[in-house]
Amino acid sequence: QVPLKPGRSLMDWIRLTKSGKDLTGLKGRLIEVTEDELAKHNKKEDCWICIRGFVYNVTPYMEYHPGGEDELMKAAGTDGTDLFDQVHRWVNYESMLKECLVGRMAVKPIAAPKDGVYLGVIKDQRISNSTDFFIVLGFDKPKESIFLLYFLFYSYDWFQTDSLITVVIYTKQKDMNAELVIVDCQDKRLRGEIIVDDYSYLVEVDLDHAVSEDVTVNIAEKVGKVEIILKKKDNIHWKMLGQSCEGHNTFIKRTDRGLFYRKCKLVSKTEVTHDTKLFCLMLPRGTHLCVPTGHHVYLKQIITGTEVVKPYTPVLPSLPLDFKEPPHHDGVHIYLMIKIYSCGLFTQALDRLQIEDYISVSNPEGNFKKSQVQTSEDLILLAGGTGFTPMVKLLNFALAEVSCLRTVKLIFFNKTEDDILWRNQLEQLALRDERFEVQFILSQPTKDWVGKQGKISSSLLSEFVKRSRKDSKVVVCICGPTPFTEQGVQYLKDLGYSQEEIHAFTA
Ligand code: FAD
Ligand code: NAP
Repeated sequence: QVPLKPGRSLMDWIRLTKSGKDLTGLKGRLIEVTEDELAKHNKKEDCWICIRGFVYNVTPYMEYHPGGEDELMKAAGTDGTDLFDQVHRWVNYESMLKECLVGRMAVKPIAAPKDGVYLGVIKDQRISNSTDFFIVLGFDKPKESIFLLYFLFYSYDWFQTDSLITVVIYTKQKDMNAELVIVDCQDKRLRGEIIVDDYSYLVEVDLDHAVSEDVTVNIAEKVGKVEIILKKKDNIHWKMLGQSCEGHNTFIKRTDRGLFYRKCKLVSKTEVTHDTKLFCLMLPRGTHLCVPTGHHVYLKQIITGTEVVKPYTPVLPSLPLDFKEPPHHDGVHIYLMIKIYSCGLFTQALDRLQIEDYISVSNPEGNFKKSQVQTSEDLILLAGGTGFTPMVKLLNFALAEVSCLRTVKLIFFNKTEDDILWRNQLEQLALRDERFEVQFILSQPTKDWVGKQGKISSSLLSEFVKRSRKDSKVVVCICGPTPFTEQGVQYLKDLGYSQEEIHAFTA
């Protein structure tokens, strides 16, 4: 992120897009853009970018781009899809840039289909009876050749009784667990997604008949079998499961799958500090979703006609003080601790939500893996402001489930005492659990503050970030404002911590 000039916030951009000004220079005309034409528009004062086949004139957007003009210029005059996906595929560019749309990319003549499909799946064949393995063939029309497109190791099946429909997904994935299965069943549409590292398998159908909102998900963890059980509304015999939707029965990279959102109801909003609130959202009844530790979701709101999306990291309703048993995820509520900024576009709109209002919540994303801390003896958490949020579930997971853990230390940076999130609970936990220690460091304390003062620095970190034994296995997790995180990582490296010992939470 770079500091933007005054008058160049997202709200200012939305206002400009609504002003009726011609932002493309084409007076509302849409054109077909060739690669040569696209390449000509590669300057700051005349910059076109292609994203997923659509070309945008981003010249007027330059000064509004939160990542800065130089980042945007990296894709000038070219196809910026990959670059866009790497940095922020969750940003809803279709809505944000709709007034900048120049047109579609012209189809390359070489790829133009002569008759029918040029490249397509011709065989989607189950090759063994054990229903674990498909082979998908494609054909290359000009060359008249057939080739292997991909192996699909996943498959699904379905069966019925008088009252139930059971969809079974065979994954053969050992350690399949509830966090890897996301199911949504609303308005006769069933969507079941299985996450396997960077890949996703999807079953998505418009069901043949209506089902009730009660959905049961059973996971046979050892064999990787997932059952989605639906209740028929009418006890009639179904001839088919339903009509396949786009993306049904595909196994593709997660980043190639659009983010899926469902509407969640706001059920409570409680104060945490003077500017931070705990929002409790309720998942719809037909949804099965558990956000993994260290992962975030995206919230989507329409603000003055434009879809705006921001990431938030779910927390727990409170810090558990007793770690005898892993906490039970109720599967229904998502808790978000959100700071409301006085001039924040998204958080101001969030704060205006009333109890019982709905907000769209995406599937989880993130690159944190529990295995990173599963074998650690010392866990050190460096948090700045709301950068505390990923630490909540992490703290809980470490204290409840990592048996080799000796120490957990949270070093929590804030401006003032009033900004410290869950201070009481953290102090209680430190008293209750001798493995846990918390250190508050304030950058703008009042004169009464007797604790530590300062900003993240090499000397502060060398004082607090230590192994409990000379050779103990340590993991340091860091999260906060981007410069805080970036500087912190650098200081840690300077202090001799390796890349593998550091996890930085970022978008
Ligand atoms: P904005 O309108 O973006 O502005 C926020 C404040 O910063 C305002 O005061 C504004 O004036 C200032 N500002 C904005 N842009 C700039 C700039 N370029 N230069 C200088 N000042 C600027 N937040 C939480 O509260 N809780 C969470 O759990 C949480 N999780 C997150 C997880 C991830 C992975 C990431 C990346 C962020 C997370 N955030 C979280 C931050 C959140 O996504 C939003 O950025 C935040 O809520 C602010 O949104 P906003 O639209 O209200 O603020
Ligand atoms: P804040 O209150 O403004 O700052 C918290 C502490 O960080 C303060 O002590 C502050 O000191 C310090 N700090 C701020 N900017 C700094 C900088 N450039 N260098 C060194 N120290 C700095 O923080 P906040 O408003 O709660 O914001 C939290 C941030 O965390 C947001 O940017 C949010 O996006 C991010 N976040 C990320 C994730 C994630 O990636 N997974 C999750 C949650 C939150 P001074 O301001 O006094 O210098």
